[in-house]
Amino acid sequence: MSEIFETEVAILGAGPVGATLAAALSARGVPCAILDAAPLPPMALQGFDGRAYAIAAASRQLLDHAGIWERLPTTPCPITGIKVADGRIGEAPSPLDLDFEAAEVSDTPFGWMVEARALRVALNARLPELPHVQVFAPMTAEVARDAEGATLTMRDGRRIRARLVVGAEGRNSPSRTAAGIGTARHDYGQIGLVGAFAHERPHHNRALELFLPAGPLAQLPLSDLKEFGVSALPHASAYVLTESRGVGRRLLAMDEAGFARELRRRLGDWLGAIEPIGRRWSYPLSAMHAMRYTAERLALVGDAAHGMHPIAGQGLNIGFRDVAALAELLGEAHAAGQDVGAAALLRRYQAARRPDALLMIGATHALERLFGNDIGPVRLARRLGIAAVDRIPALKRAFARQAMGLPAFG
Ligand SMILES: Cc1cc2nc3c(=O)[nH]c(=O)nc-3n(C[C@H](O)[C@H](O)[C@H](O)COP(=O)(O)OP(=O)(O)OC[C@H]3O[C@@H](n4cnc5c(N)ncnc54)[C@H](O)[C@@H]3O)c2cc1C
Repeated sequence: MSEIFETEVAILGAGPVGATLAAALSARGVPCAILDAAPLPPMALQGFDGRAYAIAAASRQLLDHAGIWERLPTTPCPITGIKVADGRIGEAPSPLDLDFEAAEVSDTPFGWMVEARALRVALNARLPELPHVQVFAPMTAEVARDAEGATLTMRDGRRIRARLVVGAEGRNSPSRTAAGIGTARHDYGQIGLVGAFAHERPHHNRALELFLPAGPLAQLPLSDLKEFGVSALPHASAYVLTESRGVGRRLLAMDEAGFARELRRRLGDWLGAIEPIGRRWSYPLSAMHAMRYTAERLALVGDAAHGMHPIAGQGLNIGFRDVAALAELLGEAHAAGQDVGAAALLRRYQAARRPDALLMIGATHALERLFGNDIGPVRLARRLGIAAVDRIPALKRAFARQAMGLPAFG
């Protein structure tokens, strides 16, 4: 008879969302097992790879409580101001811009820029030390769900018996497919180019969201380069650039000097000389939404449930909101001695999360449509709209709170 592990929750996928859920459940005393198909990389920080997440204030709270924030090996960079402007390649951003200051809304920053590898290192350092958590990686499993729970048969023959399975395997979630949960999809026909650059002048912790004819360009402040030591220029920012597939492919193929020129033509001169650092990454851009977030003894979280345009940098933050909601429901049920995989609990989870994610997918889609349009009158209306929001304090405050992951009005 092969070894069998009894637990309450089995999480498939130890990406940022799955691993944070394991930590949040552990903090509530809910026993769980977590599997990842890939090895969980060594603790040592590899070279700077250029990717970073914008972590909203509400997500930071979750990472704090789960004991992950304090383990970040590099300093997160606070974002204290955001400028939103309309632009054209080779021209300065439109003066009809929208300036958000975090201090006008709250005493915390809008969010923090956290290097993707630093989050990975912190999660991987935290997972093995969590009480109530068993970690299996690299490992995959066949899942059989029934009315009482689920049995996961791992590829080495060992088994896990749990009350609930959580699918956190990202966009192509096998547990979602196996449960027959369909998805709605939209292909933007665009590429997102992601990376980092060193620059001459300080960013003063300000982010820029510049709406260019082919799509948005976000510049997001990173901690000063002493942490990375890869350029003579002292400051650093991340970029997320949306382009058509053709232009995107040309930009990816360029040498460093050519790419730096193209980036600077789009950004303008406010950061002075720039030099790309780390790798240039690219992602085909699409939106995806699961028709249901639950099935018998199954809940979906993070990119397994939803994917959105990165225009507002909210994908992971929405995944962290799934984690917060599910961990709370499971923690309450476990403390009350109830079944953590009960249908009623799963209904409450779906009701709490699906409308919120749908709203964000819709909002990022609407932004992409409005700002990805270069027809003259639309451009003018957009510029006037940006200026109008800047002059209506309540509306501006609502936008700013939304960016922090807080309720828009509160
Ligand atoms: C261009 C771009 C820029 C972005 N910028 C931001 C940003 O600034 N801020 C933000 O909040 N979000 C951003 N996002 C979104 C963010 O990257 C995702 O939302 C986030 O990575 C989702 O995390 P996840 O843990 O759900 O999935 P993933 O990161 O995809 O992790 C899934 C995990 O599951 C594992 N796995 C896969 N299959 C199996 C299996 N069969 N069994 C076991 N394990 C499995 C994988 O190895 C992996 O570890 C951006 C996305 C794009 C495309």
